[in-house]
Amino acid sequence: MALKTGERYRCPDENCGCEIEVAKGAPPTCEGNQSPRCCCGKEMQKVG
Ligand SMILES: [Zn+2]
Repeated sequence: MALKTGERYRCPDENCGCEIEVAKGAPPTCEGNQSPRCCCGKEMQKVG
């Protein structure tokens, strides 16, 4: 699950709530599957 352009990720911590949008996705050759991590340390979850 590589990052795709336009995807949104949100921090699961209610006291944080940081949300990001991917401005430029990873190339199709990217085989990684890690979710982005918030500055507070939590793994961010895809929105929608
Ligand atoms: Zn956070």
